Amino acid sequence: VREFGQPDHSAVTTCAYCGVGCAFKAEMQGDRVIRMVPYKGGKANEGHSCVKGRFAYGYATHKDRITKPMIREKITDPWREVSWEEAINHAASEFKRIQAKYGRDSVGGITSSRCTNEEAYLVQKLVRAAFGNNNVDTCARVCHSPTGYGLMSTLGTSAGTQDFKSVEESDVILVIGANPTDGHPVFGSRMKKRLREGARLIVADPRKIDLVKSPHIKADYHLPLKPGSNVAFINAFAHVIVTEGLIAEDYVRERCDLAEFESWARFIAEERNSPEAAQAITGVDPQAIREAARLYATGGKAAIYYGLGVTEHSQGSTMVMGMANIAMATGNIGMVGAGVNPLRGQNNVQGSCDMGSFPHELPGYRHVSDDATRESFEAIWGAKLDSAPGLRITNMLDEAVGGTFKGMYIQGEDIAQSDPDTHHVTSGLKAMECIVIQDIFLNETAKYAHVFLPGASFLEKDGTFTNAERRISRVRKVMAPLGGYGDWEGTILLARALGYEMNYSHPSEIMDEIARLTPSFTGVSYQKLEELGSIQWPCNEKAPLGTPMMHVDRFVRGKGRFMITEYVPTDERTTGKFPLILTTGRILSQYNVGAQTRRTENSRWHEEDVLEIHPFDAEMRGIVDGDLVALESRSGDIALKAKVTERMQPGIVYTTFHHAKTGANVITTDFSDWATNCPEYKVTAVQVRRTNRP
Ligand code: SF4
Repeated sequence: VREFGQPDHSAVTTCAYCGVGCAFKAEMQGDRVIRMVPYKGGKANEGHSCVKGRFAYGYATHKDRITKPMIREKITDPWREVSWEEAINHAASEFKRIQAKYGRDSVGGITSSRCTNEEAYLVQKLVRAAFGNNNVDTCARVCHSPTGYGLMSTLGTSAGTQDFKSVEESDVILVIGANPTDGHPVFGSRMKKRLREGARLIVADPRKIDLVKSPHIKADYHLPLKPGSNVAFINAFAHVIVTEGLIAEDYVRERCDLAEFESWARFIAEERNSPEAAQAITGVDPQAIREAARLYATGGKAAIYYGLGVTEHSQGSTMVMGMANIAMATGNIGMVGAGVNPLRGQNNVQGSCDMGSFPHELPGYRHVSDDATRESFEAIWGAKLDSAPGLRITNMLDEAVGGTFKGMYIQGEDIAQSDPDTHHVTSGLKAMECIVIQDIFLNETAKYAHVFLPGASFLEKDGTFTNAERRISRVRKVMAPLGGYGDWEGTILLARALGYEMNYSHPSEIMDEIARLTPSFTGVSYQKLEELGSIQWPCNEKAPLGTPMMHVDRFVRGKGRFMITEYVPTDERTTGKFPLILTTGRILSQYNVGAQTRRTENSRWHEEDVLEIHPFDAEMRGIVDGDLVALESRSGDIALKAKVTERMQPGIVYTTFHHAKTGANVITTDFSDWATNCPEYKVTAVQVRRTNRP
C-alpha cells in the first residue's frame, strides 16, 4: 500500500465497481487520488471495503484515458482530434442524415450501468425525445433483465426485497448461482459473519465456490447442479415443500392469489418435478435436495441471494419466478432476515434500470404504452413520445446486420467485448453508418465507431448510484473532467445539436425532474441525500425516509402471484464434438471486462484468464496444470492456460472474461432468456484440447 501524505481536498463518494455500493472518502492531492478510505457512515459497507474499491482507482488518471473528442469518416481511417463542437455537430448531423434516409427508428442508444442515474436518465430522454423512438437499452439486458421480469411478475417490483443488513438476522441462507466472496466481497463478508454466528447455509452452484468450504464456514448442503438445470432444480425444491406439507398456509391465504397458488401447487406436486425425477437433469442427489428444502422451509427466517448463475440462462426469468414462488410458499418475504435478493453486478445496474433504460419502460418501470404515464412525461419534456416499445440491443444488432438499423449512441458500454457471440456483435457494429462512443478508454467497441466523446470517471462528476438494495447514494466530484465535460453534459450537447433543448446546470436538477416524474422517487432530492446519507427507494409521501424492506404487509402488486415454472431444456446441447459445458464468472481482484481493473495495480493478482477443468477431464485429454489449451465451441475458439482443480465437477469447465486478449465471449452462444433476451452466458457446449497455438 502506497501512502502519499495529507490530502488537500476530499469528498465522500460511492465505489464505481460492484452493486454493493460501498461509500469511500476520496482523498486527493490536486487531480491525484492518494487514498480511498472506506467510509464508516456508508450504510452499505459500514467502513469495510474490498481490493477493488480500496486500491483499483488508478485507471481514472491512466495514460490511456482519451481526453479529446475524435471523429473519422470510415472505421478504417485514423482518428482525428477535434473540438467538442465539431464532434457533437458531426454526430448530430450524421444521426439526422440517417433518420432522414432510413427512417426514425434506424437509430438508438445504450445507457451505462457504470454512469450515474442522472446520466442514464438523460440518455433515455435523448433517445425518446430527440430521436423520437424507444430504441434504448442497457447492459442489464445481458445480466439482470430476468430479475426485473421475474420479480415484477410475481411480487410487483423489479428489485431485491431486503436491505443488506437483513442478512444479519437470517437463520437460513440459500445462495444460488452467485459467488459473493468474489463478486460482492463486502456483502460476502457480512454474510460470512452471520454464518460464523450459526446461520445455516445451502449453496446451489456447479462449482465449489469459497462459501462451500472456507475457514470457519462449511455449507450444510452444496448442491452441484449442472449448468442449464436451474428450473428443474427449483421445481424439485418446491416439490418437497408442497408434497411434504411445508407451506406457510396462513401467509399464502392472506397475501397471495389463492387460485394461482393452487394451480402452481398442483403443477409442482406432479411426480416429474420430484427430486428423484429431476436427478437426470440436475445431477444432484435427490436426498440432498429433500433435506435442503426442508431446512429452507422450516429452519427459521430464510433468505435467497442469487446472481448471474440464475439470470444468464434461456430460462433466467422462469428461475427468478421459481425462487419467488418458494419464498412466498414458505412465508419468507416481507420480514427482516428473509427475502429474495439479486446480487447485482455493476455499481449502477439497478439505477440504470430504474431510470427507464429499457425499450418498453419509462423511468419507474412504467410501460411506454400507458397513455397517462406518457402524457406526464410529454408535459415535462415537451416532446411527443412513441407508444410502441423499441428495440433491444440484440434486435438493434440483428437489424443492423439486416441493413435497417444504422446509428447508435453508446455511453459507457463495451458491447463488442461484453456481449455474447462477438462475431455477430461486430458484424452489426460494422454495418452501421454512425456509432458515437462516450467512454474513458478506446474500448473494443470503439474500433467500429465514427465519433468518440471523452467520458468522465466517477471522480469527475456529481450524481447518484443505486446499489443492489435500492440504496441511492451520492457520487461527488473531486476533480475536473479530464475531457472537459461530465458525461451528462455531453448528452445535453448532443441533444441540443439534434434540435432538442435540455436545460440543467447541475445533476441535482436532473434528479428533481426524475422525482417529479417517478412515483417511487418523489421524495428523493440531493438535499435529503445530504441529510440522510443515502435513501432506499421507494421514497415518497408514504415512505419519506425510504424503504429498507419491501412487501411488508402486502406485495407491491397486491396479491403475490405464483407462476408456473415449466422446465424447458436449453437448445445448447453437448455432443460428441462438444462434450463439455463451459460456464463463466469473475474473480475478486478484477472487474467485468477489466477495462478499469486491468489498468490498476490489481493486475498483479490476475494477469490472464485461465480455464478451470476437473482432473478427470484433464487427464482424459492429457492436460496438466499450466498447459495452453484450445477451447472451442460452435461460435469460435480461443486459447488460454488450464488450471486443473477439483473445484470443478467432471464435464464442466469454467473461465473468467476479464481480458480482451482471451475473449471468452468469442465462444459463448447466442441463445437467450425467452422473456428478456438476456444471453445464456452460463451454458456453452465446448471441447478442450492441448494446443501450441498462442
Ligand atoms: Fe466496491 Fe463492491 Fe468492493 Fe464495495 S464490495 S469496495 S462496492 S467493488
